[in-house]
Amino acid sequence: MPATAVVGANWGDEGKGKITDYLAAHTDFVVRFQGGNNAGHTIINEFGKFALHLLPSGVFYPAVINVIGPGVALHIRALLNELQALRERNIPAPQLKISNRAQVLLPYHQLLDGYEEERLGDRQFGSTKKGIAPFYADKYLKLGVQVADLYDPARLRDCLEQALVAKNVLFHHLYHKPTLSVAELVDQIETDAAALAPYVCDTLSLLHQGLAADKQILVEGQLGALRDPDHGIYPYPTSSSPLAGFASVGAGIPPHQITRIIAVTKAYSSCVGAGPFVTELFGGAAEALRQRGGDAGEYGATTGRPRRVGWFDAVATRYGCQVQGATEVALTNLDVLGYLDGIPIATAYQIAGTPSTVFPTTNVLERARPVLRTLPGWRCDISGVRDFRALPPNAQRYVATLEELIETPIKWISVGPQRDAMIMR
Ligand code: GDP
Repeated sequence: MPATAVVGANWGDEGKGKITDYLAAHTDFVVRFQGGNNAGHTIINEFGKFALHLLPSGVFYPAVINVIGPGVALHIRALLNELQALRERNIPAPQLKISNRAQVLLPYHQLLDGYEEERLGDRQFGSTKKGIAPFYADKYLKLGVQVADLYDPARLRDCLEQALVAKNVLFHHLYHKPTLSVAELVDQIETDAAALAPYVCDTLSLLHQGLAADKQILVEGQLGALRDPDHGIYPYPTSSSPLAGFASVGAGIPPHQITRIIAVTKAYSSCVGAGPFVTELFGGAAEALRQRGGDAGEYGATTGRPRRVGWFDAVATRYGCQVQGATEVALTNLDVLGYLDGIPIATAYQIAGTPSTVFPTTNVLERARPVLRTLPGWRCDISGVRDFRALPPNAQRYVATLEELIETPIKWISVGPQRDAMIMR
């Protein structure tokens, strides 16, 4: 059975957690393939409201095997705390498998992240300070620690010693902070490793066996296409690729097996963190949308920071669908727009006086202005609607217009944060 990817078409926070949680009911495996605990998926189901950061969104279904692939930045303590939080809320213990090739996010990654943002001052990137960028830097500098190394004491010490040489120079001379020793780190790491041991396995073999046995696999991305280091708004991307194409690498699934790619996008735009955001709203208009957005206003699931909000950006979203290779789209938060008389959509960008529908490189994007087209609103609550034809005609028209502009079929429409608030077309 081929695999399905649920990925973001925009800047993250598109509502992927809700879509994955909805689809997980009919899935055997849910796999995280990149990122760490630097973003959150909000899930509202029969157990209550949850913000998952590292755990895959299949954890509410006892039959689902949840997998952390080798592409993930694994903060062991954060993962164990999330499991503990589920236990405290009486969620049945989920099945969880962690790749023995995943790499471990260590305390010095988080310190470096915080120190560097502090050093950058006004020029900081708006990092969540979870250590993700220094973690991936170490991975590609070949200074990372794989999960398997945790159970090989001599090798672990050697890896830590290697990694700390350069870090301590930075801590002392650049950041003027205390240095770290291997001895200080090892005790905590060994305690965490022991607690992690029952979950560790060769997830590549596990998933390949699943594919051979015709099992359903769902891979879930963190953040969205515009935060991809290659195709996104560099230098404001995240540090790992959130693209469905990378799921093959970060999960360990043959590329030709990922045949269904669901790109998730909101019916308006929201964005946490820095970088150009062409349709951004400010002042009262922004506040009106921010207050109504999501399940409790547009505030980050991990950071609590107010999200930047704006009108739907068809240029960015068409591009996002293109780089994701989307076969279909899930449109979330349509219910949120019910308060508006007219709903603007960015259909093109005005760049140096010329309209364009091409998503440009960041230097040009910084100067782009939205070309807006306003559609009539529907001015009512649509959160109880479950059939597309039962939506007010103006809501149907809004969806049809977005679909035409992004050139990808909108197959799912979410009209509320709860699991069942969904329309299938
Ligand atoms: P993710 O990281 O892509 O999973 O997105 P987040 O969970 O960070 O943000 C999505 C927000 O939208 C959360 O507050 C969800 O509860 C909420 N949400 C998802 N779908 C809908 C919807 O259709 N309507 C409303 N009102 N909120 C939704």
